[in-house]
Amino acid sequence: MDELSPDEIRKKTNIVEYVKSCGVALAPVSGGREYAGRCPFHDDESASFFVNPAKGLFHCFGCGAGGNLFSFIMRRQGVNFRQAMMIAMNRIGGLPPRTDSVLERLADYYHFCFGRSPRGREYLAGRGIMSEAVIRRFRIGLAPGGDRAVRALIDLGFDLIALRQAHVVNRHGRDAFFGRITVPLSQAGRVINIYGRSLSERYPHMYLPGHRGALFNADSIVPGEPAFICESILDCLTLVEHGFEHSASTFSANVTEESVHAIAAAHPGIVFIAFDGDDAGRRGAAALMAMLREKGVVSRSISIPDNADVNTFFLDDPDKAARSFRECARC
Ligand SMILES: [Zn+2]
Repeated sequence: MDELSPDEIRKKTNIVEYVKSCGVALAPVSGGREYAGRCPFHDDESASFFVNPAKGLFHCFGCGAGGNLFSFIMRRQGVNFRQAMMIAMNRIGGLPPRTDSVLERLADYYHFCFGRSPRGREYLAGRGIMSEAVIRRFRIGLAPGGDRAVRALIDLGFDLIALRQAHVVNRHGRDAFFGRITVPLSQAGRVINIYGRSLSERYPHMYLPGHRGALFNADSIVPGEPAFICESILDCLTLVEHGFEHSASTFSANVTEESVHAIAAAHPGIVFIAFDGDDAGRRGAAALMAMLREKGVVSRSISIPDNADVNTFFLDDPDKAARSFRECARC
């Protein structure tokens, strides 16, 4: 089945049935030679969307969208050409169910959704993170509502059991990250977990159960360079946004031995610890300094204002915050 060409896949797939299976209602017109319905790509009041099964093409007279089966899948699912072929092959029964890299594909899908909606960008801008480079580099995503992510993964050939096992589907069959900004956590180039930062107070921030890795953005710590260690992913994104490239975060003020080991093993220059300006943060920073000292790593604590964290420090007084981090980086 692997050897099917794109043309063969197109011939074997009924484009009318495929489009209908994506929730687009189509009715025969012109004596059944064509099918028409409301366009899924724009807010269509009339039936502007036409599919011609004999030619294998679709066209919308409202928004101008058009193309063949693959263009439809690419646009509808937010996938590239190769993935569109996989989806179509999967539909005609050509592929076994997949179990690999659910998180990798999910992270890609969320990142795609982030680009399609202003919500995620508005939220991040409110936290002072606006650069495209940061959004792209950390593959920041947005989990869309309902079961859209779940359906997209199923279309890519994953089965629901694999998705449940990865805990990306909740018990109602819905996307576990619904209503959240997403940031994939990688280790050795593989996505091993995803952080979901809730857009509203109604839902908590979350991770998937299981391992998160030693540090977020661990690869940024390099031999000889000063390193900044903060408490949260948002803090780390904030530091990178402001040009402090060698920044990583532990996942809480209670630093694990694994995190300390990862910092020491990267052989940084001085380590600057920028934990929250509260009791837990100060206690955590002191503990981390002691643990690093045991491993022969020199560290200092950066003073964060009372009840602030790195992110709110930069939001409240960006010049002062940048100055205090820059002075450290120089010393
Ligand atoms: Zn249209």
